[in-house]
Amino acid sequence: MNALAATNRNFRQAARILGLDSKLEKSLLIPFREIKVECTIPKDDGTLVSYIGFRVQHDNSRGPMKGGIRYHPEVVDLLLPSGFAGAKMNTHSYSEDVDPDEVNALAQLMTWKTAVADIPYGGAKGGIGCTPKELSISELERLTRVFTQKIHDLIGVNTDVPAPDMGTNAQTMAWILDEYSKFHGYSPAVVTGKPTDLGGSLGREAATGRGVVYATEALLAEHGKSIKGLTFAIQGFGNVGSWAARLFHEKGGKVVAVSDITGAVRNPNGIDIQALLQHKDKTGKLADFDGADAMDSNDLLSHECDVLVPCALGGVLNRENAGDVRAKFIIEAANHPTDPDADEILSKMGVVILPDIYANAGGVTVSYFEWVQNIQGFMWDEDKVNNELKRYMTKAFHNIKGMCQLQDCNLRMGAFTLGVNRVARATLLRGWEA
Ligand code: GLU
Repeated sequence: MNALAATNRNFRQAARILGLDSKLEKSLLIPFREIKVECTIPKDDGTLVSYIGFRVQHDNSRGPMKGGIRYHPEVVDLLLPSGFAGAKMNTHSYSEDVDPDEVNALAQLMTWKTAVADIPYGGAKGGIGCTPKELSISELERLTRVFTQKIHDLIGVNTDVPAPDMGTNAQTMAWILDEYSKFHGYSPAVVTGKPTDLGGSLGREAATGRGVVYATEALLAEHGKSIKGLTFAIQGFGNVGSWAARLFHEKGGKVVAVSDITGAVRNPNGIDIQALLQHKDKTGKLADFDGADAMDSNDLLSHECDVLVPCALGGVLNRENAGDVRAKFIIEAANHPTDPDADEILSKMGVVILPDIYANAGGVTVSYFEWVQNIQGFMWDEDKVNNELKRYMTKAFHNIKGMCQLQDCNLRMGAFTLGVNRVARATLLRGWEA
């Protein structure tokens, strides 16, 4: 089952549990606005190339829409409803035959995620179908500026606030800010995840990984456990995975296996994460690290451990491999890593899953702190950012548990019903009067 179908299924199940009116359910599912723009730039060699950029704005009933901008070759397939699946990068032939009930999964997930975190935002997601590694820095800058020129009227401090995601970073946000400011005057709060020199928040870069660790602490405390002494297997060693691994290690957890696209390593006594980071910085890969043995990346998800943390792609846990999982807890640091078949198999096995719309909400929560700091014109120190992040993550966990008790459901449905209910209440309060 693809991400869209899985997200829609979870949403519909939550709507049923909450007893939502079917018209309200439909209105919550359909995105507020979908923007599709053509971005043509001259490459460094002078040839012209066209890309397709998107921004899907899902819901704004609780506040400005919020979510990342992703540069990825599959962004077209990932972002658009299934009717658009033929819309490949660099081709202008796409199907207009869109099923209006099929919504953008990633933008939708942001709506529920910001509601679960109880930050005053809706949800959005965007991106450009491109392979950022194949573009020079000046080509990336031109592409980002052209994309911003096309969408500048539809984003804004109080309408839609982009942030980094896969394939983008603080520099990308700096270009968007600069280009946006040419049209609207200097507005640092129009994007988050900026460089700190331009009003970015301290602690934003580590925030998703740090949030994963706070979420894990809240879950483990509920089970009378703590990070110290437990074993962790981590899939993905990019921004989220490496920060989560580093902080688990710092808190006395034993990170026994780590994988990324270059390979995987294991050490039953625990890997020195700081040393592994230095090794990867130097060599660009995990392999040949002195402090651990090489292993097959395919075995990461079934590795012996207490806590499994998928931090990379969606759909990695499915019907084929879910039965092999040996962890007692799964923390979904990635978006939708567990498909619904795997969800069912794992729950029968008694594995506790901390769902993505809560577990990886630390990034957007610190984005909110950044936006608040920009609007106030007052910067917080890093301790304040981290303490507030912990407070938000802990409170959200207890809110989810409250829903689980009320609705007699698992953590995923607890999170979905919490988020959907908050958005539904805000939508009803605002009303539909024209
Ligand atoms: N891209 C991140 C996410 O998917 C962060 C979004 C944000 O900070 O607005 O949660």
